[in-house]
Amino acid sequence: RIPAGCPAVPGSRVRVSFGRTRPIGVVLDVAASSKVAANRLKAIDAVLDPEPLLSAADLDFLGWAAAYYHHPIGEVVAAALPLRLRKSETALASGESAWALTAAGVEQLASPPQRAPRQAGLLAWFGARPGYSAAQALLRSELPDSAPALRVLRDKGWIEARELAAIPDPPVGEVAGPALNQDQALAVSRLSDAGSRFVVALLDGVTGSGKTEVYLQLAATALARGRSVLVLVPEISLTPQLLRRFRHRLGTTVRVMHSGLSDTEREQAWHRVRLGLSRVLLGTRSSIFTPMADLGLVIVDEEHDPSFTQTEGFRYSARDLAVVRAQRADCPVVLGSATPSLESLRNVQAGRYRHLRLERRAGGAQIPRIGLLDVRDQPLRSGLSEPLLARISATLAQGEQVMLFLNRRGFAPVLGCFGCGWLSNCPRCDARQTLHRASSLLWCHHGGAQRRVPLVCPECGAADLHPLGQGTEQLEEFLAERFANYPLIRVDRDATARKGALERQLERLHAAKAALLIGTQMLAKGHHFPRVTLVGVVDADGGLYSADFRGTERMAQLLVQVAGRAGRGERPGQVLIQTRYPDHPLLRTLVRDGYPAFAAEALCERRVAGLPPYSHQALLRADATRAEYAQAFLEQLLEWATQRAGVGVELWGPVPAPMTRRAGRHRVHLLMQAVQRDVLHALLSDLPAHAAGLTAARRVRWSLDVDPVDLY
Ligand code: ADP
Ligand code: ZN
Repeated sequence: RIPAGCPAVPGSRVRVSFGRTRPIGVVLDVAASSKVAANRLKAIDAVLDPEPLLSAADLDFLGWAAAYYHHPIGEVVAAALPLRLRKSETALASGESAWALTAAGVEQLASPPQRAPRQAGLLAWFGARPGYSAAQALLRSELPDSAPALRVLRDKGWIEARELAAIPDPPVGEVAGPALNQDQALAVSRLSDAGSRFVVALLDGVTGSGKTEVYLQLAATALARGRSVLVLVPEISLTPQLLRRFRHRLGTTVRVMHSGLSDTEREQAWHRVRLGLSRVLLGTRSSIFTPMADLGLVIVDEEHDPSFTQTEGFRYSARDLAVVRAQRADCPVVLGSATPSLESLRNVQAGRYRHLRLERRAGGAQIPRIGLLDVRDQPLRSGLSEPLLARISATLAQGEQVMLFLNRRGFAPVLGCFGCGWLSNCPRCDARQTLHRASSLLWCHHGGAQRRVPLVCPECGAADLHPLGQGTEQLEEFLAERFANYPLIRVDRDATARKGALERQLERLHAAKAALLIGTQMLAKGHHFPRVTLVGVVDADGGLYSADFRGTERMAQLLVQVAGRAGRGERPGQVLIQTRYPDHPLLRTLVRDGYPAFAAEALCERRVAGLPPYSHQALLRADATRAEYAQAFLEQLLEWATQRAGVGVELWGPVPAPMTRRAGRHRVHLLMQAVQRDVLHALLSDLPAHAAGLTAARRVRWSLDVDPVDLY
């Protein structure tokens, strides 16, 4: 209930007392009356934001997302707010002050105080940034110990405190990019002919074809129109490179938002783009919910990447939401990839997306040749065949770099006893614990369970334990010995866990001539390795016969992305893929005819099988301490759904999940599928409320995943 004289407007936060707690909420709407009796309505204690934080358009978009993903609106709105604002605190923008030169200060630049170097330095620092205001937190980090000098300058009237929110970012130097080639220019013009209206474009360009240049051109146009630009990238490890390019080229400050920032930094960026004081936001998936003033362009780089999907809590696809957001803002959205998702290619087929292709590498670099290495009767040493080792030697001898890709961290995926056959099974999951030799741990990558590596077999006591299979740690150990004279760089989650470690590793590589680079899928994403001319894929077979129908698509994307790292400089690159299945039809198509041919075949298979993108799915997951609990819960929902489901909805299950036990809990799935999206969603709309009301729900944890991207 809104007390008289309390200006609660939609989009602002309010505080209400409930018993002993005082939670905050966001006003979604204001109504003149309520069906709930007046004495049962709580009054608002306080309105926390005098101005709403979310606009009507923002609330509308969030409401759409909540309805589509059948998720509570409260959690969806929370996802759009910076962490601090979800608790009851005042918004940063209103309290944050900044320092800026006064007119007197500008005059003083010509004759800085001679005997006070700190003051002179600070004055010069501001002088080098005309029209700039520095947040106090920023000054503390950039110019430590500046506080006393700041006070003196303020007392002299040379600088003054201002409210940061009121001050736009200063323009920065704009650096011209290369003239666009024909394909790039065509892509830009085919998008620009829509003016600034809504249109979806799939920018389908081989790695190094100049997609980023196209983004920059489109972004510059949007900025020139006074609009803002939202750029989504899959990983924070990619943002520094892209950030530098965007900052350099757009003549404006680019704000970033990702999990590597402090809450304060994130909230500052959030306010600045919301208020239109900064015009470009570069961020990972959750940035899709950031309010932006005059949104004029949305870009999703590497749109095929699974990390655009949030797979816990409020489950959503930032890529799919980007299209909806652009539609509601009536502005263009560009989905870029060298290996577009089958979903996006299907949308091109259906005429919903424009298809812009860049088939050649920009700047003259050649596309690498890809070859299969049949290793069926090859002796392998730490997973490497003699022909591959020989190519590595030769490449290093020529002063060039080699990259080896193995998507498995740790030393070996399993430890086994040769005496009795014992294997390092995870006690809590249906999975094996990976051997991490450097840290002497058996470590499950699914549920996280760890234990020390036993010295003798826990089963039979024999001192006969051996690593089975390979991980990046083992590859590193073997290669360090074999190619002792060359720098060796390993890039995986363990090797780059510390902040800045990845950048340092990559700098080492860029500084080196001949060198070896080993890594997991972290290597597949976006980086440039101009001196790498040989890429070896140690094991391509894992994805070929995956239980998930998206297994081959993922594998193909990974292989092409990894291959795309080679030969980006002047020298052409070569890619060698070790496999025991050289006759696998999709693998052959991929290698012989490339990704588009692969995708066409894979789409055919999906159509015949009636799988997405030719149908729509929702997955109901339940897990419990006992399998029967989860099974019983989903049986009841199946019964309910069977009665309610419209024509064309298929219900599969309940069945044990492919990974039946994880972190000690038994997992069961019920899959719902329909060719028509609306009949599926008609069923889903009442499902969460019904499920929550079942008594069987008390013993399970459950979640609904709309458009699931993995079925594990
Ligand atoms: P992508 O994003 O498709 O991987 P980039 O935009 O990063 O491709 O371009 C790859 C390389 O080619 C970069 O070094 C870039 O500077 C260069 N490049 C892109 N477009 C052109 C162009 N029109 N003329 C010359 N060089 C270009
Ligand atoms: Zn486990």
